[in-house]
Amino acid sequence: EPQTVPVGLGDRAYDIVIGAGLLDQAGDHIARVAPGAACAIVTDGNVARLQLPVLRHSLEARGIRSSVIVVEPGEGSKSFPVFQSVCEQILEARIERRDVVVALGGGVVGDLAGFAAASVRRGSRFVQIPTTLLAQVDSSVGGKTGINTAQGKNLVGAFYQPSLVLADVDALATLPLREFRAGYAEIVKYGLIDDFFFFEWLESNASAVFADRAARVEAISVSCRAKAKIVARDETEQGDRALLNLGHTFGHAFERLVHYDSARLVHGEGVAIGLVCALRFSARLGMCSLQEAERVERHLTRVGLPTRIRDIPGWRADADSVLDAMFQDKKVEKGALTFVLLRGIGRSFVAKGVDVDAARSFLKDEM
Ligand code: NAD
Ligand code: ZN
Repeated sequence: EPQTVPVGLGDRAYDIVIGAGLLDQAGDHIARVAPGAACAIVTDGNVARLQLPVLRHSLEARGIRSSVIVVEPGEGSKSFPVFQSVCEQILEARIERRDVVVALGGGVVGDLAGFAAASVRRGSRFVQIPTTLLAQVDSSVGGKTGINTAQGKNLVGAFYQPSLVLADVDALATLPLREFRAGYAEIVKYGLIDDFFFFEWLESNASAVFADRAARVEAISVSCRAKAKIVARDETEQGDRALLNLGHTFGHAFERLVHYDSARLVHGEGVAIGLVCALRFSARLGMCSLQEAERVERHLTRVGLPTRIRDIPGWRADADSVLDAMFQDKKVEKGALTFVLLRGIGRSFVAKGVDVDAARSFLKDEM
């Protein structure tokens, strides 16, 4: 049974539909939110090979005209040159404002296609069909779109909400295990932010989430509901939305310090290590117990995720370079370190003005 999570954003409200076999029914869903529209499907080479045929067939069966724009897999496609080419191909395909740009793929395709949808003709309809676990629980929800520049990641983009998100758990069947685990780290994050019972549920059901559809649909739905709730409260990150950065201030710094080399560290792995850092740092500051940090670490280890800085292959940075990498982050206010910390599992909060020396000495001891 598919589950529907509504994202309450007034006149831009939309649904996230989560279930099995949804690629097969995509034509029906798209016709519902955009009757009579044509589609430009943006995807990457891997997903085009593995998942695109089912989607095209479903659109054809519904009589929906579609064209396909394929980009190279990988973060490199979130760039100005690829963005330009995607926009031009969307225009070439005669996509009008009421037509639909469909993102079929992981977070890279979603961010790139979403920004193109926001830009072409000052905004065409946009549908997300996320095919990685990370994209299903995180990047396809919330409306952040964009590309990278020489100055950093995600620095050019727009808030642009889709008309529909279709998360087909069957698409995950072809996803490499390492990518699946990386997405799982983001699921654990939602438990840590404000849902202790979900974290407990994950402790009992992790193997099912890795193995079967029903548990996957459940874990993805709870995650989307958690993100949708925060996004509806704070769409453009003036306040609460910052909680979603739990584990990310550390994690982004690690990614930056390995130069985004995905052979060494993928985003979700950085997040897993970052979550444990956030908990251990909170314990160090006397805000939560070390037992809780260890409990989360045990869970992440059990599913095969790295949890410590020293787990990063070839790591050689020192505490100060980690701090520098964290300060560079656009999410850190100048002069004061802002962290998302925890009073316990499910009890996160935004801590402003955290002492730099405390952070430095914590990092020294972690490495
Ligand atoms: P990705 O899009 O690069 O996908 C990872 C790899 O999996 C790629 O090689 C892709 O080709 C492949 N793949 C995708 N679906 C597949 C499938 N079903 N079967 C087999 N292979 C498949 O990476 P990602 O982890 O999905 O997303 C990371 C990106 O998301 C980053 O650019 C990050 O900045 C962005 N992001 C955005 C938000 C947001 O709110 N917009 C949030 C988190 C992350
Ligand atoms: Zn993340």
